[in-house]
Amino acid sequence: MLATQKLGSITSTDTVKLWAVQACAHCGGGVEERFRYCPWCASPLRRKLVEFFPAHPRDAGKALRVSRYLDEDPHVRFSVWDETGRVESAVSVEEAEARRLARFLRPRPSPRRHGIAALLDYAAGVSARRSSTGSRKTTSS
Ligand SMILES: [Zn+2]
Repeated sequence: MLATQKLGSITSTDTVKLWAVQACAHCGGGVEERFRYCPWCASPLRRKLVEFFPAHPRDAGKALRVSRYLDEDPHVRFSVWDETGRVESAVSVEEAEARRLARFLRPRPSPRRHGIAALLDYAAGVSARRSSTGSRKTTSS
């Protein structure tokens, strides 16, 4: 999703990437920030990745911005933005802590089911896959 408007307009639960046009440090050509390589000279461009995460409804209007710096001092910076587009606070963590955070946020595996419950889960999955591929055709009468 391309979004250059103010944070106050972010209402979706989708993440929003902010893209801006900047100049390639190598050739000076204009390139969008989302590009990994310069389309004019093929130099690598991305030194920083930015992603916005709209808040839970209890913090409506706010957003979390996560900036990942890929330069000689790799780190991840978290900043809390209010609905006016102002940063309320920020903190940076080192790569190792960012990896630990990613592990913490990883979805937990569902509890393993056994016996007949596991067989029923498996059968439901097979049935759902068959119906989604359309391999079981029905004829209209
Ligand atoms: Zn270039």
